[in-house]
Amino acid sequence: MKLAEATWPEVASSLESVVVIPTGSLEQHGEHLPLATDTLLVTAIANRLEEEHQDTVVLTPTLWLGASEHHMAFAGTLTSDFPGYLSSLQSVIRSLASHGFRKFLVVNGHGGNSDLNRLALREVKRDQALDAQLLLVQQDYYSLPADFYAEVLSGEFKFIRHACEAETSLMLHLYPHLVKLDKAKQDGLHAVPPVPGLATSFSEISERGALGRPDLATAEKGQRIFQAAVENLTATIRTMRQGFVFRSDREDPAG
Ligand SMILES: [Zn+2]
Repeated sequence: MKLAEATWPEVASSLESVVVIPTGSLEQHGEHLPLATDTLLVTAIANRLEEEHQDTVVLTPTLWLGASEHHMAFAGTLTSDFPGYLSSLQSVIRSLASHGFRKFLVVNGHGGNSDLNRLALREVKRDQALDAQLLLVQQDYYSLPADFYAEVLSGEFKFIRHACEAETSLMLHLYPHLVKLDKAKQDGLHAVPPVPGLATSFSEISERGALGRPDLATAEKGQRIFQAAVENLTATIRTMRQGFVFRSDREDPAG
């Protein structure tokens, strides 16, 4: 069920569903992809999840204003400040929790949101610590096994980066009319930092806003990544639907 298209009685009778909240961005994606790339991709994946699980998923509209301060050197990028970002995501979760929903899956489409999504969920969890039914999960849709990316991608980076081979392939699969493939060029000045954990602005690691080999992108690679992302998130939704406990069910060996 799409929350925005439902009536309130329909929502009130769907409280067992997993609430899926997609988070995207509106930020530069090189010279060949549109600003809304992350929002478009995560929305397409979330829509597919909703289509496949209409009776067990409630899908909210995508939160499109991301944490994109590291892309502000490029024109058109919009960014939320961190407190504003946390507040808007938490407002969605707290509103639906007060209506009675207990299972929330934040499906993220923008790397800059990941830390904040986790922090947002930590704060809600802290405030609701006695509510054992409350399940709060954040997953980046593109977080897939390394050997999968190694097999699908041809360029140097065997994982998803930014406006890269993988992301451009997804766009070719889902929104080919928005891809300017003739402008897709190898980019990335210092894409691997000299020390791990270095905070960077994107203009320090990319000349024109992309990374890696978007020129190697194909719709077929994008179709495979899309399918794998949907399957991965479907497994998460199934597990969340079933519910789980952290305690081991094994007999106490001493007992
Ligand atoms: Zn992106």
